[in-house]
Amino acid sequence: MVNQLMNPLAQPLASLGRTGKALEKKLKPLGIETCEDLIFYFPRRFDDFSLVLPIADLRTQITATIRGRIDMIANRRSRRSRMIVTEALVSDASGSIKIVWFNQPFLTKNLQVGDWLSLSGKTSDHYYDLQMVSPVYEKTGSGAENGVRIPDTVFPSLHTARLVPVYSFPANVAQKQFRLLMRTALDRCLPFVKEWLPDDIRAHERYPDLSTALLSIHFPEKQEEYCIAEQRFKFEELFLLQLYCKNLKESLAAQTSCAIPFDQKITKRLIAALPFTLTKEQKTVAWEILCDIQKATPMNRLLQGDVGSGKTIVAILAMLNVVHAGYQCAFMAPTEVLARQHFTTLKKVFADFDVRIALFTAQHHELRIKNQELRIKDYELRDTIANGGVDIVIGTHALIQEKISFKNLAFVIVDEQHRFGVNQRKALREKNSAPITAHVLSMTATPIPRSLALTVYGDLDISTIRALPKGRKKIITKIVPQSYRAWTYDFIRKHVRRGRQAFIVCPIIDQSDILGVRSVKEEYKKLIDGPFRHERVEMLHGRIKTAEKERVMAAFRDHEIDILVTTSVVEVGIDVPNATIVFIEGAERFGLASLHQLRGRVGRADHQSYCFLAPTDEDKEEISRLKAVVSSHDGFALAEKDLALRGEGDILGLRQSGMPRLKIATLTDIELIIKAREYAAAYHSKLNDHPELKNRIATFQDTVHIE
Ligand code: ADP
Ligand code: MG
Repeated sequence: MVNQLMNPLAQPLASLGRTGKALEKKLKPLGIETCEDLIFYFPRRFDDFSLVLPIADLRTQITATIRGRIDMIANRRSRRSRMIVTEALVSDASGSIKIVWFNQPFLTKNLQVGDWLSLSGKTSDHYYDLQMVSPVYEKTGSGAENGVRIPDTVFPSLHTARLVPVYSFPANVAQKQFRLLMRTALDRCLPFVKEWLPDDIRAHERYPDLSTALLSIHFPEKQEEYCIAEQRFKFEELFLLQLYCKNLKESLAAQTSCAIPFDQKITKRLIAALPFTLTKEQKTVAWEILCDIQKATPMNRLLQGDVGSGKTIVAILAMLNVVHAGYQCAFMAPTEVLARQHFTTLKKVFADFDVRIALFTAQHHELRIKNQELRIKDYELRDTIANGGVDIVIGTHALIQEKISFKNLAFVIVDEQHRFGVNQRKALREKNSAPITAHVLSMTATPIPRSLALTVYGDLDISTIRALPKGRKKIITKIVPQSYRAWTYDFIRKHVRRGRQAFIVCPIIDQSDILGVRSVKEEYKKLIDGPFRHERVEMLHGRIKTAEKERVMAAFRDHEIDILVTTSVVEVGIDVPNATIVFIEGAERFGLASLHQLRGRVGRADHQSYCFLAPTDEDKEEISRLKAVVSSHDGFALAEKDLALRGEGDILGLRQSGMPRLKIATLTDIELIIKAREYAAAYHSKLNDHPELKNRIATFQDTVHIE
């Protein structure tokens, strides 16, 4: 048995000798402290130097490795660029070739005539001859052996004549140095690496064992060998993620929440008072939620539905029942504007019900009790919340501040949930003085692609509204080339004269260095002096003070403004049914899901609505991406496409929304995700038989960094 203290995996890098000591500090910021951290730090890519040729067989413009002896080496100063140029002549039995390095004068100290080298790089023409410029070199023998070459097996190559790993790290670390350290660490650690993937999974999937896989992921002999190892590690990561999500779900299921009885009478009364009839899907998802909260285990449900699909009313039906049962609700929105909009909606819907509603944001603390509206101090409202004097509190991030505590919070709604992190949702869930865990309903208009639904959101139950309420017309979407701009402004003017309103969305607020990208401030100036001289135009963006923002939003809603020049702050949730045109500048700078969201700001009533996409430059690839938005009105399809095109890290704020930072797997690999999920389901209950796996999940939970 190996003593744990002797286990080289747990040793610091310094235990790996001089190179280890030298790199210890530089690698710490990357989270590499022990030998184990090091060997699990995978290469970013490979240089393929595996083609080894006799010098005589070289052609121009190929990447290859040669092995030969130095016949001559010297530094000189180049006449024109005043660089130090190191020139060498290297020969093997078949011929010789000129080698050139720039600005590495120390090379002549390391390399001497008679040294045997392995050199990898690209060949190029030099007058009538070939040369190799700045190749990677590796000494395979020195002049002392009188020209007798030492066989490669004594000096297994690391940097040449093979697939050479390239790692990403700060510039002050040299690839060669790092590779050497990696090789040393692998040699020392691999015999001690403990397999944790259950044998039957490995056998069935034909995955290599852990130590073989580690060697292959860093120093594969062949491409295929790397791919097999990569496959194992990708699976491993997704498998762990699945087990982790299952654990989360289980720990939540062990907690208690308030069972909320469904009151049919009062629910019907509210529905009857609405100015519209609920769609079939709204009824279905409301029913799913109402059933969930009847249980004494916490609900954790995601309600996804395209923009304008009417999610708010579904949440309201649930809140009504919670309040009727005597408990409190919290309703968190990502912006002040949106929180206020919800406050207004709720006041209207609950006008004939005995529900006490409050608005709590950084700026505003308002309370409505029995149709009376009060503006009160923040501490007064906090007290009211704490002693149960209010039933529903609507707010922004301000709701999760430490000082707020509820008397009996049973139900939490997080609107536009992708704007919030997992921890923020969790903080809100736990804002309770009573020992109960609140039911959580997260709502989003950015549909979760199926692959994410199966992984990151694996701990959530999902309800979906796919269809929009009846009577909504398809939003006509067009790409506007430069030459049609004037025509489009005319079009907007005509609609404004008929009493409609428009958004003009720019990707940035201020003029920037980015050539040609239109900013809110510049456009605003240009438009009020030019095409929209006679219209009422204002601007709205994230750097305007909250009070002013609210004034502008209210003015737009009350139709005191015709055209709003704005950033994507309007993207989230804003509901102005009279707006029928959204004109998006620099459209290629937005993700597809964002564009779809922006488009969703119009088409909210019976008027025919329009979305114009104006790309900054008419690059073919960008245009074809935009065409996806023109032809598809399906938020799910667009989100899926966005994920595939841009990668998970990049889509619409997903970084903040609980995406794990995966090392090697991708969240788009549906097949592997499904496989990992099936195995996780099978092994989750058997973890006690697999102590290594169980340990591994524990460390994974610490490192997965779900934000
Ligand atoms: P979202 O799902 O994007 O949050 P909202 O809940 O804001 O959408 O609803 C968008 C608009 O549609 C609101 O003005 C709302 O009153 C209206 N609405 C909701 N349900 C229906 C329905 N069944 N029929 C007609 N209009 C509806
Ligand atoms: Mg909404």
